[in-house]
Parts: sequence; C-alpha cells; structure tokens
Amino acid sequence: MAVARPVVAGVELGGSKCVCILGTAPDDIRAEVRVPTTDSESTLAQIAAVLDSWQGSNDPPEAIGIASFGPLDLRAGSLTFGRVVATVKPGWDGADVLARLAAGRGVPVDINTDVNAAALAEGRWGRARGLDDFAYVTVGTGVGVGLIVAGQTVFGCGHTELGHVRIARRAGDIWPGNCPYHGDCVEGLASGPAIAARSGLAPNALPADSPIWDLVAHALAQLVHTLVLATAPRRILIGGGVIEARPELISRLREYLVESINGYLRIEELAEGIEQYIVLPGLGARAGPLGALALATDARGAGAASI
Ligand code: ZN
Repeated sequence: MAVARPVVAGVELGGSKCVCILGTAPDDIRAEVRVPTTDSESTLAQIAAVLDSWQGSNDPPEAIGIASFGPLDLRAGSLTFGRVVATVKPGWDGADVLARLAAGRGVPVDINTDVNAAALAEGRWGRARGLDDFAYVTVGTGVGVGLIVAGQTVFGCGHTELGHVRIARRAGDIWPGNCPYHGDCVEGLASGPAIAARSGLAPNALPADSPIWDLVAHALAQLVHTLVLATAPRRILIGGGVIEARPELISRLREYLVESINGYLRIEELAEGIEQYIVLPGLGARAGPLGALALATDARGAGAASI
C-alpha cells in the first residue's frame, strides 16, 4: 500500500511577488495564492493570513517551508535567525520572515534561500533528478547559485553567495559593472540590471547580435569555471529571466567554459558530455515555490522543531 504523502505548505518570497502553495508534490497542488511583494509588514501579514486560512481548513499543512530572497541569517542559534539581513531592498532590512510566518503554528518549519530551495526542487522533480552534487544558477534581477553538495545545501558561517565571485574579465572589456559592493563581480556584469545599465535596454529588448551578450556568456562561464573547480558538480543548470530571453547563450557559455578550463580537467563532462553537463533547468519559474514545498516535506520528515 502506498504511504500517503503529507500535505505541506510552501512560501516563496520573491522580489516582485510571493507564491504560497499547499500540496504534497508538483502533481498534487491543492491551493495556490499569490501576494505582491511590497513592504515587509503588509506582505508578511498577507502571507500569514493565507497560512492561517490553510491551518484552519480540512486540509491543514503538516509542515511549512520558506524560500526567501536574501541575504538571510540562517545560523542556528543566532539572535537574528530567519531574518533578512543587510538587504538593499527598501523596507526589508531586518525583516523577521521566519517569526512572522511560522512562530506558534506548531508544525515543523524550515527556511532557506530562494536559489537553494529551487535547486532542491530541480534535484527532486526537475533536471537534476537523482543527482547528489549539482548547481543551479539563476540569472535575472541578480545572479544566484543554489549549490547542492552530497545531497545538501551548503552552509557554514552563512549561505553561499556565488553570484558575487570576482572573475577574469575578457580582454579589453573595462566596463566597471554595477554591483554596489563589487562593481564587476558576476552579478555586476551579467544580471538583468547590469545588462540594462550597460546597454540602456532591458535584456529582452537587447538585440540578439549585440556584443554585450557575448560578454554576459563569458562572465557566466567564469562563474561556472569556479563552480566546476570548487565542488565538482555532476551537472550545472542555468536559467532565470535573462537566460529565458536568450537561451542560445548556453552554447556560447559552454565554449567559453571549455576554453577557460583549458584542458586542465580531463573529464567527459567538459568534452563530448558537455551538452548534458550545462543545461537549462526543468521546472522554470515553478522551481521556487516547489523548492519551498520540498523544504517543508523534508522538515516534516526530519521531525524538525516547530518554533
Ligand atoms: Zn557583487
């Protein structure tokens, strides 16, 4: 007899909207509510009201997963655990996401970054299914990397922020980048706002033959170079709004990656296997909310503490 899958709730907090879903798996979503992201106070209040209504229903969630933009404080025992910290997003610095959404609900709760959660979803239901070591890169408003090593998201003194690594620039390219912290880190060169700052056009309006696309592919290949050397992922998924606008960037990126590694690693993934190594994700924009659902399912399975 099949074991009944638990009904859980997932909340994805995104830059422009938040998605709340209730269900057991992608093929069994029982409710979905979208809340526009405005200031933290009213946004979190609206999400909490959605969770209240689900908890009072005949189908209450047995756990809650939260996938949030960051940076987040995820250090166990920290006084600011579960808060958004040091964000430049107006009205969100210090927002106590975890406490506002989960405190007192009496069910297991887990919180992680939006990209880590999306990576977990791709590992469970998407293009990285069955893999314990892979990376999920999203290129949109920012550049985020969800890194899965030995089946787990990586966490030490904080969560990883690989979108901000510094890279070797392509010869002759001296545009300073637009990251407020680092200038020409990957995010400062390849995110949607970086492309817009450099070209004066939104990424989906920038012509396919603009030389800026080649520089974007080069910057992302440099990030992937670091990923390959740092954690030896078995596959790297690359998506997000910028890539959705120009999916053909992937093939240029593969070429730049091979050129950059320059024969140092003799692995099939960088030779005949490269088209299966650097790929588009499988879940598209659903990866975020489904990632929150995956966090909730794991929290319930692990008997995680409620707060
Ligand atoms: Zn940066």
